[in-house]
Amino acid sequence: MVTSCYNLVEKEEMHMNTIVLSIDNEQQMQKSVKTAGDCIRLGGLVAFPTETVYGLGADALNAAAAEKIYTAKGRPSDNPLIIHIADIEALDRIVSEIPQKAKILTERFWPGPLTLVMKKTELVPLSTTGGLQTVAVRMPNHPLALAIIRQAGGYVAAPSANTSGRPSPTLAKHVLEDMEGRIDLIVDGGELPIGIESTIVDITVDPPMLLRPGYITVEMLQECIGEVDTDPAMVSMAAHQVPKAPGMKYRHYAPKAELKIVEGEPEAVAEAIDKFVIHQLEKGRKVGIIATDESLGCYPQGIVKSIGSRKDDSTIAQNLYGVLREFDELQVDCIFSESFSEGKMGNAIMNRLGKAAANQVIHVQKTDKE
Ligand code: AMP
Ligand code: MG
Repeated sequence: MVTSCYNLVEKEEMHMNTIVLSIDNEQQMQKSVKTAGDCIRLGGLVAFPTETVYGLGADALNAAAAEKIYTAKGRPSDNPLIIHIADIEALDRIVSEIPQKAKILTERFWPGPLTLVMKKTELVPLSTTGGLQTVAVRMPNHPLALAIIRQAGGYVAAPSANTSGRPSPTLAKHVLEDMEGRIDLIVDGGELPIGIESTIVDITVDPPMLLRPGYITVEMLQECIGEVDTDPAMVSMAAHQVPKAPGMKYRHYAPKAELKIVEGEPEAVAEAIDKFVIHQLEKGRKVGIIATDESLGCYPQGIVKSIGSRKDDSTIAQNLYGVLREFDELQVDCIFSESFSEGKMGNAIMNRLGKAAANQVIHVQKTDKE
């Protein structure tokens, strides 16, 4: 806890030493940005909104501050942090080389949900990069994030602000659930536009390699820079494959209940889920179902929640983590989810949902009924 932080705020709302700053008007926004940025500069931990998920920010160039992130999250120390910057000029000090393809991608997608892995300079402590000689960098597209990063000195390490292994936070209340008493401040920026973490591309290799799928798809990357490889460990979940993004090897995004994904023709999926639900209810278990706006009516039993609409799968990405947390709150024993692989964000959504389900996928066949 950075005690000097207390002098920076009129304690808006205090939760076991974690202060929540809300933003209702322009004046309050400026004050909160200053408080949050100054707190990070002093070595504190501040959760703030980005366009993807809420980040847990610390000064990326201060080894001791960055280490505090690992403690607060219970994050394994070999899982490196992404450095967030607010101005393209900031890149030169933390990376030793900016490949031409990186320039093209930053011009096209920054600020935005794209993280690039490049070679680091001496300035970046190894505790920020999990001991690696490369560093992951992104410029978020959220006005509060950008303002806080500038106020903090320009380099903010900010992994998702959840306890390691839990679903990433997409609301300030999710951050508070996990981080109450563990961090100095939470800046409440309301709902976030994307809801899942950034796309990560390793640009130290040629062709560049996708390490984590996100809102920026492989097709969008290929349109700009041509060939892009995909980390084989991301596609096959074979045990011997070690992902190139160290964090991807951990079971992430998990709800407390057992989650199973059911895949197949929509009608067959609905029928199968209903059968599984009845079976579980008979055993006296509390069951959740992840459906969509279109299929809500197909499930007569269990607790049904819509994750969004298949007509626009960005709504599914946006609600994914929130729905998992809602089922946690309801203390269900198991959850059955439809599969969402078809749309533009299908890869990113199924990557996160698959991890939440520890890759338990049930394939169902089309029913014979005419
Ligand atoms: P999070 O901050 O929770 O969104 O996770 C950051 C992700 O970026 C993790 O999967 C990390 O393993 C990955 N990452 C960060 N830095 C590097 C790096 N230098 N090389 C490869 N992957 C990285
Ligand atoms: Mg995370």
